[in-house]
Amino acid sequence: MAFGLEPRPRPVLIVDDDIETLAAERQLLAESGFRVIEARNGSEALRAVQDDPPAVVVLDVQMPGMDGPAFALELRMGLRRVPLVILTGVDDPRREADRCNAEAYLAKPFDAQELVSVVRRFAA
Ligand SMILES: [Mg+2]
Repeated sequence: MAFGLEPRPRPVLIVDDDIETLAAERQLLAESGFRVIEARNGSEALRAVQDDPPAVVVLDVQMPGMDGPAFALELRMGLRRVPLVILTGVDDPRREADRCNAEAYLAKPFDAQELVSVVRRFAA
């Protein structure tokens, strides 16, 4: 029964309160072969991290409820080191990435190839 059963690859967790951004990210990353899970705010994202530990998190900054930096702080208190990519429309994405202790950042509107290549780099 178990022959040929491969372990499921760890997913890419995408977190954004904007459903159009989520849809665009989901489609692009799924087409590029990643398994994608998603959350609409920081607290949903924390549950997703518990339920299905991701290889990398692509994180919006401004979200109602628990925002990106608050989620990043919680994530960093966990045992597992999860690479974090900030994806934001704020004026100074680099400052937000520093605040979140993130590995990388992208500005909105994001470039499709940039998103895929940064996810590929950290999901390996
Ligand atoms: Mg937002």
